[in-house]
Amino acid sequence: MIKITFPDGNIREYNSGVTPIEVALSISEGLARNVLAAKVDDQVVDASTPIQNDARVQLLTWNDTEGKKTFWHSSAHLMAEAIEALYPGTKFGIGPAIENGFYYDIDLGGKEFGSDQFKQIEDKMLELARQKSEYLRKPVAKADAIAYFQEKDDEYKLELLEGLEDGSITFYTQGNFTDLCRGPHIPQTGFIKSVKLLSVAGAYWRGDEKRKQMTRIYAITFPKAKELEEYLFLLEEAKRRDHRKLGKELELFAFSEKVGLGLPLWLPKGTILRERLENFLRRAQVRAGYSPVVTPHIGSKELYVTSGHYAKYGKDSFQPINTPDEGEEFLLKPMNCPHHCEIYKTKPRSYKDLPLRLAEFGTVYRYEQSGELHGLTRVRGFTQDDAHIFCRPDQVEDEFMKVIDLVLYVFKALGFHEFSAQVSLRDKTDREKYIGRDEDWEKAEAAIIKSAQEKGLPYVVEYGEAAFYGPKLDFMVRDALGRKWQLGTIQVDYQLPQRFELEYTGSDNQKHRPVMIHRAPFGSLERFVAILIENTAGNFPLWLSPDQLAVLPISEKYEDYANEIYLRLQERDLRGYVDHRDEKIGRKIRDAEVSKVPFMIIVGDKEQAEGLVSIRKKGQGDLGSMTLDAFMAIAQEEIQQLTHDR
Ligand SMILES: [Zn+2]
Ligand SMILES: [Zn+2]
Repeated sequence: MIKITFPDGNIREYNSGVTPIEVALSISEGLARNVLAAKVDDQVVDASTPIQNDARVQLLTWNDTEGKKTFWHSSAHLMAEAIEALYPGTKFGIGPAIENGFYYDIDLGGKEFGSDQFKQIEDKMLELARQKSEYLRKPVAKADAIAYFQEKDDEYKLELLEGLEDGSITFYTQGNFTDLCRGPHIPQTGFIKSVKLLSVAGAYWRGDEKRKQMTRIYAITFPKAKELEEYLFLLEEAKRRDHRKLGKELELFAFSEKVGLGLPLWLPKGTILRERLENFLRRAQVRAGYSPVVTPHIGSKELYVTSGHYAKYGKDSFQPINTPDEGEEFLLKPMNCPHHCEIYKTKPRSYKDLPLRLAEFGTVYRYEQSGELHGLTRVRGFTQDDAHIFCRPDQVEDEFMKVIDLVLYVFKALGFHEFSAQVSLRDKTDREKYIGRDEDWEKAEAAIIKSAQEKGLPYVVEYGEAAFYGPKLDFMVRDALGRKWQLGTIQVDYQLPQRFELEYTGSDNQKHRPVMIHRAPFGSLERFVAILIENTAGNFPLWLSPDQLAVLPISEKYEDYANEIYLRLQERDLRGYVDHRDEKIGRKIRDAEVSKVPFMIIVGDKEQAEGLVSIRKKGQGDLGSMTLDAFMAIAQEEIQQLTHDR
């Protein structure tokens, strides 16, 4: 008998050699029907793999990431089977699962292939899936494996085989298709109920541009037809919300090749949005005890040699700027931290002066490969909502709590209600790798975990993910479409204070080294605005909307009244525009809707005569007529509620 430990801590006894699927059956038939694979002592295996010894076992279903991965990778085999049936002689590269679905790299021997053929492959896959063919695992000798793929004349599989050791090679066969694979796979093809081929692209064999270009087919499958429909809906919705598309339509930002790739130009409306975000955070930071500072966009090369950034980024980033004076070299600022260290050093610090919190909306420049650039999320020049906290080791925990408070306040005010965190700690078996005193690390790591717990932040701990200079906490938010985005970060740093020889005088009158904490709730304003656009589909909350209102005179007769109304709104810090165009009111309303303006203020004969305004609200329609004061009270109440700005 062997003991099997389940994730909830329960232990049950089974005969040695029991398979995960049998274990599932012993619990319930319903569970057994949904088991795709199993995790046995951290290794994902086929649900039919016998378990010989005591083990921890997790039965994997569609609800587990690893279950999904196994499902999608198995679907890649099914797609290959369909392709081989439809295009005999096709050669196969690799077919892994990816975050959403899977792909297979294939060589069609020069045959034309495009999205017109998708339907035929999808139909074939579903036909094969209905046969419920088992994925059969078979160990093979290397010589036999080579013989098999020589017979098939598949040079890709033969090359993959070269790197494998005899005795470790397995084949998997389902239906008429056999693949070289170490597995694991789902029990049989019948689990696959819906299929969608998504796109086709060229991909170099083994990612090497000197080698053959293959055809990469991306696809996705689901165990229920309904889930495919939902996925396709989200895909469409993501396209509709793409920040590059909306950024252009709403005139928020632009790129110009003449200015340079990856260097965003903030248009007037985008700048208003950005300034509102900055001001919001600036006010919150002042309340939290930060001191704003400003530092230049460049710094001498020596500064970054001292900080270590030159050694790390120097070769792969923008190259030094030379001056007319011989030997002077400057770098575009890749990080704000070295500048802030120099601010710390402008005067002697005592333990009573700490923590010192320096905040800057600092623009930094990093050279990203042109292929990596993507809208506002990957750019070459961006502004961090950066701050550095210099504190005593005994203050780390308190400062961490305060930063988490600030970050959560920001997320909630901006409509992100689902968030989580990753805590990155040292690899406990390799302490040599990290700088700083052991006891400080232990204190800081415990402080991070304690503050995450105390603040009720859902988090996962990753060992070995800390930087060599300190542990950190990264925030993830989930957007309206359920997508996860990595946002701000809090990072403890023992290295820069050492490199810059930062000191403070302790209560013992001795010199001590402060700890530095880097933190940025948004990460960068560019990336954050991109995420905000996609999360709201451009329907920003009132306080952030570039145009909060549009005053729409029914005809030119009411222009003066419209102007007068707008002036009074501006005095109360409400912004927007008066639509003076010689257009029908219906057209003016439609255009304001397309521009996603939250409030429309319509003025005509009746309004002018009675000194009132008629209000339309986006998403709600007509609110009726009221005095301007009554409207301003509504608008201001909405702004205050959203920013929680009491
Ligand atoms: Zn496989
Ligand atoms: Zn920093």
